Amino acid sequence: MSERNLILIGPPGSGKGTQAKRLAKRFGIPQIATGDILREAAASGSEAGGRARSIMERGHLVPDDLVIDIVRARLAKEDCNPGFILDGFPRTTGQAEALDAILREQGRGPVRVVALVVADEELVRRILSRGESRADDNEGSLRNRLEVYDRETAPVLEHYRSALVEIDGMGDMAQITDAIVEALTEQR
Ligand code: AMP
Repeated sequence: MSERNLILIGPPGSGKGTQAKRLAKRFGIPQIATGDILREAAASGSEAGGRARSIMERGHLVPDDLVIDIVRARLAKEDCNPGFILDGFPRTTGQAEALDAILREQGRGPVRVVALVVADEELVRRILSRGESRADDNEGSLRNRLEVYDRETAPVLEHYRSALVEIDGMGDMAQITDAIVEALTEQR
């Protein structure tokens, strides 16, 4: 059986985490959310975790090396054999290039990249009304996260031009999942 290697990219508030969970379940592959892994590290009280926490709270990106090491180790685990869905990585073109190298090293098949598209005003509205709020869900941090997305992460879409499907992220959660699944099956 061929692997299903997916990357989900979208700005903060685009529903990326929700869709990653739903796709992981649908396809029986693990969701690898670098934000979740970093939040766990921050909560553990380790030195690297403490450094990551203050960066995350301000809405900036933690250093590439740190997340690249996390992802390399995570992808080497056996539960990733049938594939994986990366949620929140890569966020810079440097990370995308490192991921290409990791996947080559590990002898993995090609990736498909799903980009969720949501208008800026809707992102701000969604995040500031999020029921379960995070330490980085305040207005200053959110502004940074949106800027960082436009400046650092949007160029990653260009890196994956030929593997990319863009999905409208406005509207019903279940319908968006169906649209993603359909787009992924259509093109292969
Ligand atoms: P997220 O839960 O995906 O919104 O990530 C929360 C925060 O974790 C981000 O705002 C960054 O500070 C940090 N983070 C998560 N993934 C990455 C990544 N791939 N590169 C750098 N920082 C990251």
